[in-house]
Amino acid sequence: MLGKITEFFRNLPSKKCTECGKKIDEQHECYGNICNDCIKVSDM
Ligand SMILES: [Zn+2]
Repeated sequence: MLGKITEFFRNLPSKKCTECGKKIDEQHECYGNICNDCIKVSDM
């Protein structure tokens, strides 16, 4: 199972939001793997 997950991330050219699966920029790295939209939602 772990091997499959590693392969999955290796194929990703950039980070993806763990909430909606959207591509996120490196500048949001400080928030983890969550895009700006999901951060706003979880901030409420
Ligand atoms: Zn998101």
